Amino acid sequence: MGEKENNCTLKHKLNFQGIKTPCYVIDREQFDRNLFDIQSNFQREWGDNLGIGYSIKTNHLPQLLEIAKNKGMIAEAVSDEEYYYALEQGFDKRRIILNGPLKSEECLICALKNNSIVNIDNLEEIDMLIRRKDKLKNREIKVGLRVNFDLEKLCKGETATGEAGSRFGLCVENDEFEEAVNILSVLHIRICGLHLHFSTKTRSLKVFKILAEKICEISVKYRLLENIEYLDIGGGYWGGRTVKDRPTMEEYSKGISEILKKRFDSRKVKLVLEPGAALLSTIATYYTQVQNVRQIKNFSVVTVDGSLLHVNPLLNRRKLEYKIYASGKRSIPQQIVCGFTCLERDRILQLDNALELKKGDYVQIDYTGAYTMGFNNCFISSPPYIYMKEDEMAILIRDKKRKLMLDI
Ligand SMILES: *Cc1c(COP(=O)(O)O)cnc(C)c1O
Repeated sequence: MGEKENNCTLKHKLNFQGIKTPCYVIDREQFDRNLFDIQSNFQREWGDNLGIGYSIKTNHLPQLLEIAKNKGMIAEAVSDEEYYYALEQGFDKRRIILNGPLKSEECLICALKNNSIVNIDNLEEIDMLIRRKDKLKNREIKVGLRVNFDLEKLCKGETATGEAGSRFGLCVENDEFEEAVNILSVLHIRICGLHLHFSTKTRSLKVFKILAEKICEISVKYRLLENIEYLDIGGGYWGGRTVKDRPTMEEYSKGISEILKKRFDSRKVKLVLEPGAALLSTIATYYTQVQNVRQIKNFSVVTVDGSLLHVNPLLNRRKLEYKIYASGKRSIPQQIVCGFTCLERDRILQLDNALELKKGDYVQIDYTGAYTMGFNNCFISSPPYIYMKEDEMAILIRDKKRKLMLDI
């Protein structure tokens, strides 16, 4: 029993036979294609001196970390826990990046001793280095610095934070970045890298060109050119599929490399990328099944066993891409596909003049591989099933707990 019953066949077109819902189905071949798109383009423009980080927070499934590791990716952690998790998952210590706005002194020192890539985010972390300098005495310490600058000023309306500005990194506009440079110089701690990562609404090529220009400008201004071993330009790319008016990896790689090459020798300096959504959003598809239908005034409420919280947990304002498998033969004016929770806001889709959905029908939501599973929780029900697609089969890799686990 067990295994055979849990897994199900995915014919060329998904036929749902035996599939349990709600579930995510992960397509590892899509992962391979997305990674290849990033890697091959940047390799062509920058060469082999390239590091591609796997953003753990974007999807922390151990099976995906295993794939990332075997593909030669670097693990990118933004907390102590993510750092130790990457170690546990077997990443080479030197192939883990420790980022993030909050590092414990213990984890920071551990990562430095491990020769992991460490990007300092704030002056408190420099104080930790001062306090622990003696313990690290016999080794050469080197760190990267995360840069904060006013990106919005140079691309109005594009950043996620707008005028308020990013809250991460050391600010170059006041004197915190300079202070960090000076203290590290006195301590004889080498600044071997620069790290920039910004969230934007547009993910535009212009943004990345500005980041590349800023890297050059800062390296010259603070006399870092000689010591720089890596340039980490972060995540925030568009990727995984081609969409009209959105930049491609070819454009990103050309735009970024062209500017950086004016100041840096790509044979000597490693270019590090940290693509989260671009690598992972298109690798998973979500399926949920209709459980009941009711009429409220002039519309149909179609309640499914899934939830908006599974596909858009931060409730961002965005249109979901979907497909419905309706058994009804006629179109009806208005159906609202709603989740199982008691939240009024748990409305997944509004369908206008679509085929009538009936009990037992399926609804598919595309591109659910990034920033979804990491947010799964035990609010009202336990997290969805997860399948991994292997050839024609969907292998169950996470079961849904029947009992609500409130103590985790
Ligand atoms: C979240 C994060 C990423 C991934 O960002 P995407 O926008 O998903 O590409 C990369 N680097 C850092 C430091 C992050 O915090």
